[in-house]
Amino acid sequence: MSVKKLYINGEWVEGSEGKTFLSTNPATGEVLAEIAQASVKDAKRAVAAAKKSFYVTREWRDMDSQARGDMILKIADAIEKNKDELARLDAMDMGKPLREAAGDVDDAVHCFRYYAGLIKTPHGGAYDVNAGFGEMHSYTVHEPVGVCAEITPWNYPLLMGVWKLAPSIAAGNSVVFKPATVCVLSCIRLFEIFEECGLPKGVANLVMGPGESIGNELASSPDVDMVTFTGSTSVGQSIMRQAATNVKKIGLELGGKSPNVIFADADLEGAVEWAMIGIFFNQGEVCSAGSRIIIEESVKDEFVKRLAERANAITLGNPLDNPDMGPLVSESQMNRVMGYIEKGKAEGATLVCGGERYTEGECAKGYFVRPTIFDNCTSDMTIVREEIFGPVVTVQTFKTEQEAIAMANDTSYGLAGAVFTADGSRALRVIREIRAGITWINCYNPTYNEAPWGGYKMSGIGRELGIHGLEEYQEIKQININLKPGIVGWYEH
Ligand code: NAD
Repeated sequence: MSVKKLYINGEWVEGSEGKTFLSTNPATGEVLAEIAQASVKDAKRAVAAAKKSFYVTREWRDMDSQARGDMILKIADAIEKNKDELARLDAMDMGKPLREAAGDVDDAVHCFRYYAGLIKTPHGGAYDVNAGFGEMHSYTVHEPVGVCAEITPWNYPLLMGVWKLAPSIAAGNSVVFKPATVCVLSCIRLFEIFEECGLPKGVANLVMGPGESIGNELASSPDVDMVTFTGSTSVGQSIMRQAATNVKKIGLELGGKSPNVIFADADLEGAVEWAMIGIFFNQGEVCSAGSRIIIEESVKDEFVKRLAERANAITLGNPLDNPDMGPLVSESQMNRVMGYIEKGKAEGATLVCGGERYTEGECAKGYFVRPTIFDNCTSDMTIVREEIFGPVVTVQTFKTEQEAIAMANDTSYGLAGAVFTADGSRALRVIREIRAGITWINCYNPTYNEAPWGGYKMSGIGRELGIHGLEEYQEIKQININLKPGIVGWYEH
């Protein structure tokens, strides 16, 4: 098995310390690949390469937007051409069902295409200003930030990277990218595609290895102009502290514990189906998962009965066979989720279904957890307060709209939320009250490359995707032009 290498300054290289780590399939335990592990020295080399390409070579930064856009489109086409391979890599490496992985690749293609177009649309502004210093014209331009460090989690290995790489590269930045160690294979393939498409050397660098050392180095390096991070809130806090060293620009997409509020007048069957998508999609390893169902008391029993019937019917299996759910990403993630399940039982929640590993047949080799529903939950329970990041949902009840809103907002997170009701005015009223960045009415989870993504409160800072997602990777420069050059007479009073 040949070792998969780091990509620094346009070269595939071993880690400077010669260390490697293994990538394994969470459905089978089988080793998929051996990966070169980056050291702090390698992270520094990658930053130096990005810095040189941005500040010295300048080929990519100075390329006109037409040519840059064409290159980004070429990358999108190449991803599309390699869709099957990329989807299989994510399914085998991370554990998501193949059709969900294929959907991620489609989204990645659209994301590159979207930003290839967006960089050619008008940006900046022109301002009417006062004549205190004479007749002036004031306008703004957008410029790339410089060297961007990008650190991502494992739950959407390819897509979380693309949400950062597509806009930052399209905007003319140079990048050092660090994916989560457990799932790197689709990202390695993506960087091969960058190389095949002719992206200039040093523009995109790939380092793989432990977050505590190389992630820390990237976040604290004085040569990095911006750090953008998707992952847990605790690591996000550490990144924010490290970024203070040279007052880097930062973007943080962090954890969630999102409310799914269901009123008695909602289409109950529809609410059940969307609640399933909200919590069991991607094995519940979704930052925006609807992990807290908050439902009007009068329909709770019927809703929970129907949800449990559907949850019990979920198929688990090898992701390549397209079950409803695959395994959790790793043994440690499975143990973490099982730990929360035990805590839920101990703290008095009623286990309605699931609550255990799934070990039928071949699944005994993997890290499968059955879809789990806890009823009769209260706001003080650990399973209601903390992000579990697995297929576990809690159910709480309310009697009034005010109570529902208060319960929904009773969290330190603010990533996502939904409301289900047949009353249009109430839907709009309640959704406006939910303190979260991504919300839905009578549905759960659909999101789009064109619309901004990000959290309130401890779920993050900034927005990815849409126009905001491009502007995150741009500085805004104000330019003031004196329309009548010469003496202004300021000191002649
Ligand atoms: P994590 O925070 O453990 O790791 C994320 C990345 O940070 C990895 O690449 C890791 O190696 C790196 N890292 C770890 N310690 C670091 C440090 N001290 N300094 C710098 N980098 C470090 O998260 P995870 O377990 O990979 O992913 C799950 C988390 O990601 C969940 O909390 C989930 O909600 C969140 N997430 C958020 C979004 C969003 O858009 N808001 C999307 C996906 C996942």
